[in-house]
Amino acid sequence: MKNKLINGWAFFRYLNKKKLSNYILLFASFHLSRWTKKPIIWGYPSTLSIEPTTSCNLRCPECPSGLRSFTRPTGMLSNTLFRSIIDQSGDYLSYLHLYFQGEPYLHPEFLDMVKYADQKGIFTATSTNAHYLNAENVHKTLDSGLRQLIVSMDGITQEVYQDYRIGGKLQKVKDGLALLVQTRKERDLKFPRIILQFLVTGKNEHQIPELHGFAAALGVDEVQLKTTQIYGFEMGSELIPKNPEYSRYLPSGNGNWKLKKEIENKCWRMWQGAVVTWDGKIVPCCFDKDGSHVMGKIGEATLQEVWKSPQYNAFRRQLLEDRQQIEMCKNCSE
Ligand code: SF4
Repeated sequence: MKNKLINGWAFFRYLNKKKLSNYILLFASFHLSRWTKKPIIWGYPSTLSIEPTTSCNLRCPECPSGLRSFTRPTGMLSNTLFRSIIDQSGDYLSYLHLYFQGEPYLHPEFLDMVKYADQKGIFTATSTNAHYLNAENVHKTLDSGLRQLIVSMDGITQEVYQDYRIGGKLQKVKDGLALLVQTRKERDLKFPRIILQFLVTGKNEHQIPELHGFAAALGVDEVQLKTTQIYGFEMGSELIPKNPEYSRYLPSGNGNWKLKKEIENKCWRMWQGAVVTWDGKIVPCCFDKDGSHVMGKIGEATLQEVWKSPQYNAFRRQLLEDRQQIEMCKNCSE
């Protein structure tokens, strides 16, 4: 709770009148669209996820980066493209997640990008597997202005950790976190807030009772238990946790499974923000990992033009009319 308050306050301090009014416009147009069943969009993205790179050092089995299974091009975001996106959207943008697929710390200019966005008055966050938190970049991380560092760590023993984070070394994660926590303390800094994110599966749920002690010993600010999206969940999977509290799915009888949350024809994310791939393509959300629904490309149009384009609105319309028609939306808890 304490960490949520600190984070919330930090986020609030990045807001200004323009960003706040933009958010209100988005919120109002979302509800009006739901009511009229027509896509009306009044503001511009208040949240963006931007992908620094598709490269990753790990081989996680539910991730196209880890499986090397992308059909879209792979590569690294250029600093010029990044600055152009920030310059185009900065007036409205309140929250930047510098992450989509891949490991952000593999991008050599990752922390320079964070700094650029921070200086433009945007709250910045990232997600990492924490294999590259080391003495070389710990001060740069602390000086970048990064407000939130989410560390994906789904096991508290090497055996369980590597079952999903294939190729990962738990000791490296622990050392990197300990170094960051200690250096932040020595420098009397509050940020980035460090969140340990535990993706709960049927293979690690038994470690949850010990997890909090483990996290406290590491000195992280918060533990987040996250439900796991599982491809082909309908037929069941050993990754589905036994405890329904940690699962997105429920048995539907005859050995089949269904989404726990009832699907409604709406999606706030389509009014709130977007995802930009390393090569500037705008996709609707982080579920579109392989870029199956590209709405436009920065360079060929501005972010604002794409955001209000007929193509984007046709996608929003489909969500309002029948979300089940969009394959990726069938397995989404939004
Ligand atoms: S998968 Fe569909 S419903 Fe889910 S966030 Fe993306 S667009 Fe919205």
